Amino acid sequence: MTVDPLTCDLAERSVTEVNRRLHALSGPAAVEILHPLGRHNVACGLNAPLDVRVRGHSGYFTAGMNQRASVTVHGNVGWSVAENMMSGTVRVTGFASECAGASAHGGLLVIDGDASSRCGISLKGGDIVVGGSVGHMSAFMAQAGRIVVCGDAGAGLGDSLYEAVIYVRGRIHGLGADARIEPLGREDRQALVELLRRAGRDEEPDSFTRVASAKQLYHWSPDHGNPDSERGAAVRSGEPAASGRSGGAVEAPRWAGAVSRHYDADTLDYIRRAAETGVYDIRGLGAKRRVPSFDDLTFLTASMSRYPLEGYRERCSTKTVLGSRRAERPLTLATPITIAGMSFGSLSANVKEALGRAATAAGTSTTTGDGGMTAEERRASRTLVYQCLPSRYGFNPDDLRRADAVEIVVGQGAKPGGGGMLLGLKVSERVAAMRTLPAGIDQRSACRHPDWVGPDDLAIKIEELREVTDNRIPVFIKIGATRVADDVKLCVKSGADVIVLDGMQGGTAATQQVFIEHAGIPTLPAVRQAVEALEEVDPAREVQLVVSGGIRSGADVAKALALGADAVSIGQAVLMALGCNSPAYVRGGERVDATADYHRLGTAPGRCHQCQTGLCPVGVTTQDPDLEQRLDPEWGARRVRNYLATLTMELTTLARACGKSDVHHLEREDLAALTVEAAAMAGVPLAGTDWIPGRPPHTAG
Ligand code: SF4
Repeated sequence: MTVDPLTCDLAERSVTEVNRRLHALSGPAAVEILHPLGRHNVACGLNAPLDVRVRGHSGYFTAGMNQRASVTVHGNVGWSVAENMMSGTVRVTGFASECAGASAHGGLLVIDGDASSRCGISLKGGDIVVGGSVGHMSAFMAQAGRIVVCGDAGAGLGDSLYEAVIYVRGRIHGLGADARIEPLGREDRQALVELLRRAGRDEEPDSFTRVASAKQLYHWSPDHGNPDSERGAAVRSGEPAASGRSGGAVEAPRWAGAVSRHYDADTLDYIRRAAETGVYDIRGLGAKRRVPSFDDLTFLTASMSRYPLEGYRERCSTKTVLGSRRAERPLTLATPITIAGMSFGSLSANVKEALGRAATAAGTSTTTGDGGMTAEERRASRTLVYQCLPSRYGFNPDDLRRADAVEIVVGQGAKPGGGGMLLGLKVSERVAAMRTLPAGIDQRSACRHPDWVGPDDLAIKIEELREVTDNRIPVFIKIGATRVADDVKLCVKSGADVIVLDGMQGGTAATQQVFIEHAGIPTLPAVRQAVEALEEVDPAREVQLVVSGGIRSGADVAKALALGADAVSIGQAVLMALGCNSPAYVRGGERVDATADYHRLGTAPGRCHQCQTGLCPVGVTTQDPDLEQRLDPEWGARRVRNYLATLTMELTTLARACGKSDVHHLEREDLAALTVEAAAMAGVPLAGTDWIPGRPPHTAG
């Protein structure tokens, strides 16, 4: 008995209604989708053995993030068809626009006609067969999988290719960096026969040209990325490294011995003490801090004109809700202090687990990073934000649905406009498997997303993420602080529920020094610009603002909130709570001196910034099995929980002193600036005046 296909008519129902109907199907079923009329996100997020036929042209992200399903589009498709597909098949009988098959992990995409530029960009394991030609920059940064092009290929083919292989039958208009033509072997012929057969084609395998990676970008420096380098071997063996590869003296980099001005010795002591005790410090004497940043501001706490709250009797709420604009399940947190995205790969699995446990104990959220979600951090984290980065390393729809929010990372404060990197010593077998890369090679991350390039595309991408998750979870956008006012407005326009703004004091696992020191603007002026932009385009403040980049103390948190942030996110300082830059690590309850290991890296406790090496003396930023054991996740979780508790107590202390029963009632009017520069940047009056530089008198607040 034949069963009539389920018919979904997009002239009568919305894309969301149709997708939800398809998501509810678990067994084999045939589905006809009528009148797609160029709509976006048709038949995306499927995870069942469905046979879906789309009768007509469809728009962006058609059949995106699918598993097991077979989708045939009888017409043309817009950008990013079958992006991030995990398995199953997608066939387009007509032409495909840009980025077809972007970041696909598995399955087969067949395009009978031509595919536009960047076909197969960031491919992670799927197969693509194009009956016609492909546009320029196709297979850019493709990591694995195969792309068969029966027609011509545009310029820049295979730029920055990893392990993916491209076969082209027609003319190649130009190869990209690190791509080269290689002879066709027996395995290639077999692969071509199989792929062409599956695509219903009969071209002769010997008529194709093979393009693969020249692998010259796999190791940019033997000393930094090579596990066999003298320096790498030295730390693990405990022996001092030779002074240079050729036996000559190697001059220490200028910053090797520099003390961080932001995390000076006092700040490190403060964080460590907070992590140890979980309570704030009480002492005499005045302020010891120095400029700049949030340290440039002070609170105008209550006196006669304001009435303070009593700390022991009157409550001060710290409850924080993020993502209430459109998501069905916004995040409800016990504190506005969250843990920022840091990757497994940059951090060890133990550290990721420790952060998850600490966040859960503190009632707040933690965040994944480049490279995907580990099982340990998902288990340990009650509220986990899943990052969607340009590289899409480890990104998949299953983990997306397991997440409590998704954060599209456009930029980071430490390197706005730049991509990430993870040097070979940290690309262990497990990290490599999660990122679909060979172990031990230097991993580069793109600075742009593979399947959208501007706010209009991003708006459709966000809709796709909502479709795949049935609109349950909020969508965050993270930006590095540069042209803040414009970027924030565009985030709102693109449909973000939450904007994460990362100032230039934000951290990174490994980035060029020139980025860290010379790109972006500090967190202080960035918050003010972001808040003013939100007040202009979102006066009801439906979109929440999370601020990060150099947040260290409860005072920093309170000042960020007073300037208009809804929450903050902390990265570097939680690593310090875990022992980063500490002279010792703890094993079996005993402190073990690690000073010699710092020296082998050419640095010292309190001055270290050698996360990129993977040889972290205290086991925080490493994948080395021995070094990783230097950090016990339970011990680490306790310290981070204490640190978060201290910050929350300090925050409420200041809020009560300002007469607020809710930390979110802190306002700009509660602040004064200690320098003219801070007054101008933060938009608060210079202390003792009503003067804000650049504004007429009497406009304070
Ligand atoms: S390598 Fe140095 S800077 Fe990086 S986490 Fe370890 S101690 Fe901290």
